[in-house]
Amino acid sequence: MRRTLCLTTLTVAGVLLAVVANEARQDRFRIRTLELAENLYVLTSDPAEQGMRTGGNTAVLVTASGVALVDTKIRGYGEDILARVREITDKPVTTIINTHTHWDHSGANTEFPDTVDFVVHENTAAHMASSDCDDGAGFQGGSIKNCEAFTGDDSRYLPRITFENRTSLFSGPDQIDLYYFGRGHTDGDTWVVFRGARAMHTGDMMARKGLPFIDADNTNGSATAFASTLRNAVDTIRNVDTIIPGHADDPLAWDDLVDYAAFYNDLLTRAQEGAAAGRSVAETVAGYSVPEEYSDFQAPANRVEQIVGLIYEGR
Ligand SMILES: [Zn+2]
Repeated sequence: MRRTLCLTTLTVAGVLLAVVANEARQDRFRIRTLELAENLYVLTSDPAEQGMRTGGNTAVLVTASGVALVDTKIRGYGEDILARVREITDKPVTTIINTHTHWDHSGANTEFPDTVDFVVHENTAAHMASSDCDDGAGFQGGSIKNCEAFTGDDSRYLPRITFENRTSLFSGPDQIDLYYFGRGHTDGDTWVVFRGARAMHTGDMMARKGLPFIDADNTNGSATAFASTLRNAVDTIRNVDTIIPGHADDPLAWDDLVDYAAFYNDLLTRAQEGAAAGRSVAETVAGYSVPEEYSDFQAPANRVEQIVGLIYEGR
């Protein structure tokens, strides 16, 4: 489509340049800054625009010693993120936590100074270090695949700080607690709790109020474990009021996460009952509808199909 547009205007070089320049501008989606607390902000995409836009939501915590970011959106948005941080504080970015490895959450990691401390779950670190994995997404506007992002010269951006189940960074009002509760969207999803602000970034364990994508093929995500991982998070984490979802433009509340865990666990139960009763995946999918009490959650047909299919396979 784009190529056709360029070729038809190729006759006049000036027109072509104007079209290319205009497209470059149009390719950049806007970032919106929301203030959640005195020292905590979230950089979302613009609700007026549609689709993936800038990628996952970026949290910005201004600590006594510098700025900690959670997730870096899509490749190419590093400067945009830094510009927004500079509107908030003069302090440098010192720490970047990635909730998981995906291209729309760690895409701009290599656009920050390599002096930044990068922090991830140990399984996510392994995915980043592997050059042969492929999440099928590829970066917007390029052919670089997720796991090729940290190869060659950029291997200096591989995270050196990892954890297994739980760790904390900073102290006092700056304290960040990192949790791993098991496989789900991938096998390295970190839950990031901002103690002072009573807020938590869930990454794509709760991307929005809707059924998740499970990356079972490339990063060992699990539709079956997703249910217990959500329950573990709800049962373990305390003193959080505000949820920063992986992708939704507006913050959610703790109760939304509690409902989400129940909503997802209901689907797991139905899939397991369907399998036990000898119904096919298609029959179970056809028989599914969102329960009345979770009617504010989305269940796109392709997501129901993927999740039920994986659960039937025990994945
Ligand atoms: Zn993801």
